[in-house]
Amino acid sequence: MLVDLEQRGAQFESGRPFKMRDPICPKAQRSRTVAVTPVECSTSDWPAGAAIDRNGPEPMMHSDWLWDVRRECDDCIGHRSIYLTFDDGPHPLCTPQILDLLAEHRVPATFFVIGAYAFGQPELIQRMVEEGHEVGNHTMTHPDLSRCGFDEVQREIFDANAAIMMACPQASVRHVRAPYGSWTEEVFAASAIAELAAIKWSVDPSDWSRPGVDTIVDAVLESAKPGAIVRLHDGCPPDELIGVSGAGLRDQTVTAVSRLIPALLERGYQIRSLPHFD
Ligand SMILES: [Zn+2]
Repeated sequence: MLVDLEQRGAQFESGRPFKMRDPICPKAQRSRTVAVTPVECSTSDWPAGAAIDRNGPEPMMHSDWLWDVRRECDDCIGHRSIYLTFDDGPHPLCTPQILDLLAEHRVPATFFVIGAYAFGQPELIQRMVEEGHEVGNHTMTHPDLSRCGFDEVQREIFDANAAIMMACPQASVRHVRAPYGSWTEEVFAASAIAELAAIKWSVDPSDWSRPGVDTIVDAVLESAKPGAIVRLHDGCPPDELIGVSGAGLRDQTVTAVSRLIPALLERGYQIRSLPHFD
């Protein structure tokens, strides 16, 4: 059965959440064609060491192939690299402001986007890619994956990949960040099957809570060190929008980033997008 991605986009526009209902394996995920053909998986398609009981109620996994969640990156080349990451976008007002600041200073970043938003803002995914940023997977609908069964975890991750690829076929999704930092064995397993590096963070100024621009800037600069991964937000999951919307949603983050980039550069940091992990 062919599943037409454009048809899925129409499903989103009509308000019905898109779900891939067929078992997905890495062969299907790697497909760059517009139409996705569910692929019969053989055991050779799964990562070495994977042992998933497809008939049982819970997947069984060997811990020796679970990936560590990276909280920071190696800085062995001594370039004082630091990594700005932005979660929960793209947002039609806030994300362009962040992209403008990054372009002004000619520095790349990594955006962990929500797949459902990528469907609605394909031009922003395209701009991210065209301007040299990494686009990461932040699931399709931003659930707490620790409350999801393995099949749902896998759907959330693979559907988000498909949504990003539909928005921008030139994108290469290499990283995944679990909403709320909820990493479980199932999330590790689904990430590994999708060949995505699991990424957390080492610097979190809690900009989502709108603590004030000075607090955000100070928290990042006080914790910054070579290899640090900084978590910020250019958007907000739909179920967390409380009383703040539009440009005011992440105005503190935008202003903080306008001060953070020059401050980090002055301190000798090189701001980079997340590297590609083998
Ligand atoms: Zn999030």
